[in-house]
Amino acid sequence: MDRKDFLKKSGCGMLCFAAPPLLAQSAAMQPAVAAQERKRFKIDIEIYEAREDSWCHKKGDTFAYPADMAKLCPWLLSRMHDFIRLLQNDVTLSWKYEGTPYEKVLNESGITTEFVRCPDPTGDLVAKIIRTEV
Ligand SMILES: [Zn+2]
Repeated sequence: MDRKDFLKKSGCGMLCFAAPPLLAQSAAMQPAVAAQERKRFKIDIEIYEAREDSWCHKKGDTFAYPADMAKLCPWLLSRMHDFIRLLQNDVTLSWKYEGTPYEKVLNESGITTEFVRCPDPTGDLVAKIIRTEV
């Protein structure tokens, strides 16, 4: 069976011919994004605080994101998700938590940090997200 016959029989024929114009159209609708040089970032997560007998993560544990995603506590990961997405997309949240142990670094030598607390009320766990421009 040649490729055309296979595509017809698999029902993929129409989709294969219909998809390229759709893709071209959606790309054309985002000229600003395409034209702009996108910054690239590395995301690391450090357990900044944790109760000593914490069952999930220990203070000082470090994780690369997304490589170590499966090793992260799912509650903590769910809470960090929005922050990570924003940081990956070059967003900097302007508040600094000045004068607290969670004072952030905002774009200093390519590094920005955010602190996120785990929703587990028994964990007393705070993660530090470190974004490094690469
Ligand atoms: Zn946890």
